[in-house]
Amino acid sequence: MDQILGAIQSGASGEEIANLPIPESYRACFVKRDEAEMFEGLESSAKDPRKSLHIGEVATPELAPDEVYVAVMASSINFNTVWSSIFEPLPTFGFLDRLARESELAKRHALPYHVVGSDASGVVLRVGSAVRNWSPGDRVTVHCNYLDDQDPSAHNDSMLAANQRIWGFETNFGGLADLSVVKANQLMPKPAHLSWEEAAVNALTSSTSYRMLVGDNGARMKQGDSVLIWGATGGIGGYAVQYVLNGGGHPIGVVSSPERAEMLNRMGCEAVIDRRAEGYQFWSDENTQDESEWRRFGKTIRGLNGGEDVDIVFEHPGRATMGASIFAVKRAGTVVTCAATSGYMVEFDNRHFWMKLKRLIGSHFANYAEAYAANKLLDQGRIQPMLTDTYDLEHVGDAALAVHRNQAEGKLGVLCLSPGEGLGIDDPEKRERIGEDKITIFRS
Ligand code: NAP
Repeated sequence: MDQILGAIQSGASGEEIANLPIPESYRACFVKRDEAEMFEGLESSAKDPRKSLHIGEVATPELAPDEVYVAVMASSINFNTVWSSIFEPLPTFGFLDRLARESELAKRHALPYHVVGSDASGVVLRVGSAVRNWSPGDRVTVHCNYLDDQDPSAHNDSMLAANQRIWGFETNFGGLADLSVVKANQLMPKPAHLSWEEAAVNALTSSTSYRMLVGDNGARMKQGDSVLIWGATGGIGGYAVQYVLNGGGHPIGVVSSPERAEMLNRMGCEAVIDRRAEGYQFWSDENTQDESEWRRFGKTIRGLNGGEDVDIVFEHPGRATMGASIFAVKRAGTVVTCAATSGYMVEFDNRHFWMKLKRLIGSHFANYAEAYAANKLLDQGRIQPMLTDTYDLEHVGDAALAVHRNQAEGKLGVLCLSPGEGLGIDDPEKRERIGEDKITIFRS
């Protein structure tokens, strides 16, 4: 990998990169099949990703005709790596075994280890024989929709495919590594004004928020819409705030500390609710929700929204908040959800839902077109990377723990092959035009 890194740093041509040998093994972050029960009996919060995420050498898999090898310069922590590392709700090895049953080459994925990670920026090293649009030397970011294009249900909207998967979570050979194997239809051009780590943190969360709010398949936010955003300085929430501002809407961000409230103000989101300071208790006990708390929440929102209920709620905490979200959205408004961080058995009062003709949309990542559109907005400098901090690959467990404990804002970048921060900026003039202060606004 040293030779590959040297070539990338010295600006070697595509042809020179194509002639470099692919190493037989590479450094990666993985969980182990024989440790899937290591946290048995512990509360979620006591499960420590530092114990289950290992860094070591793994064998380089062979390349399928529709795949490419990418030298991964940087990656990021997503919540799915937290799920993989605490083996919740299920160990991910079941996903790999199911994938392995699909074809001869898919068998590569069922291994005693699972290389995790669903984001990457880097350089294409080799392309399979069926790859047309990408070549060695291309600087890319990788989105995580892993798609079987021979499945008829994968056409139209590929997120509806029966065997749609998330790369690095439901497949092996993910992005938290020095090398990765991805399908050619996961590649997108790296925005030239961003460093490797700035380019690596966006694709998963930004594309998810794009589909939820902007794309035809989600809430279809219009100019002037008001949008309540839970976890508004988090990975998906931070991009949601940016999409609402960029699309001429009015974001109302919910966070849990004055520091996060201040971060929202810096982003241009003036309407902020500090849920901890307000002390909302939507659940009065394990089985009972308190409607008077929903009403108190609704009143606070209206106070920040010109006396009106919101058009859209951007929902993902799940059990803790879904009742309040369904209650708070306006008559005929839309709640769009992609997750359930606090618990997936959600409960809401159906009377408020049907009598006020509300809508609930389930959403999951993004198709290639949506991910590409989100990447284009980033490339144009209209959306900024939510990078707040950077770790090196050896300390990926610390980064995952911070996300698991809700101690991190925005996105945590991970340096893989890149030997330091701030490298990989190919168009400094464009960076200056967009503005260093804008691009780095989230850095802690
Ligand atoms: P993140 O960076 O950790 O942010 C989550 C935010 O949620 C936190 O900043 C926190 O904000 C808020 N939060 C946590 N627990 C809460 C609770 N009980 N009540 C209210 N707010 C709470 O995570 P993320 O990357 O944004 O991901 C969020 C969720 O979406 C995860 O479950 C992830 O797996 C999922 N996800 C799904 C997809 C998909 O394609 N389906 C894609 C990306 C992410 P405050 O404490 O400041 O309020």
